[in-house]
Amino acid sequence: MKSQTLSLPAGGRFHLDRFDPASTGRFKSKTQAGKALEANLARLNELQELLYADGRHALLVVLQGMDTSGKDGTIEHVAGAFDPQGVSVTSFKVPTAEELAHDFLWRVHKAVPPRGMVGIFNRSHYEDVLVVRVRKLTPNAVWKARFEQINAFEKLLAASGVAVVKFFLHISRSEQRRRLEERQKDPGKQWKFNPGDLEERERWDDYMTAYEDALTRCNTADAPWFVVPADHKWYRNLVVSQILVERLGRLKLRYPPPPAKIGSYVIPK
Ligand code: AMP
Ligand code: MG
Repeated sequence: MKSQTLSLPAGGRFHLDRFDPASTGRFKSKTQAGKALEANLARLNELQELLYADGRHALLVVLQGMDTSGKDGTIEHVAGAFDPQGVSVTSFKVPTAEELAHDFLWRVHKAVPPRGMVGIFNRSHYEDVLVVRVRKLTPNAVWKARFEQINAFEKLLAASGVAVVKFFLHISRSEQRRRLEERQKDPGKQWKFNPGDLEERERWDDYMTAYEDALTRCNTADAPWFVVPADHKWYRNLVVSQILVERLGRLKLRYPPPPAKIGSYVIPK
């Protein structure tokens, strides 16, 4: 399976409606894709150990998407492949008073994984050009300047050994409606029902415009965006796992050399 077709063409303007959120690629069913997903998760587990042993790189995974797009589910099913000791997950919520008193990257930079580790962002600094723009939380000039600030920040991370991979979990408006209704009716999911999500849904078109701009302006070689068809959870997991396997594979990770004269040590009885 090739993931490259899912990334954005460098330089081109990006139109979300050209991407089918219900796509399942060449796969017809969850069962058919099961083996590929299993293989990817096993490979991710090996690559993470190697990332840790190698110690020269970190992996930062950014998850963005509308409410119910599956950010939590992706973390559960894909990040679950990693050894918990090697991963940190950070969920970015409405900024606190302290966070708001700093520049918008302050809370983000602190959460970037150190070399050897995997960091996963459930929402991210992109909220500062998405919800902030749609909800008019800052003057236009402030969020507009952030695209370049984000690119500079991600360039710094890349130069410091952090491989940044950004996923937009792309669900359709109708699938979001279905998932919100499920949260409303299913007693096991009602705890996730947030009336505030309905207000965001009403701003769907504004969010799509904001996402298109963010993806277009901040799709760089250092930190590419990938649009993940997310109406089918199994395909979403497969695509995300595949792209991570490929990204970690390109780091050419290796075990460090063993201690000198390792064979000469005598292990005490
Ligand atoms: P959830 O992901 O459902 O837990 O919700 C987190 C909420 O925090 C979402 O409604 C986000 O839009 C909001 N949020 C995250 N970052 C920011 C930010 N920088 N400014 C304003 N709201 C934010
Ligand atoms: Mg929410």
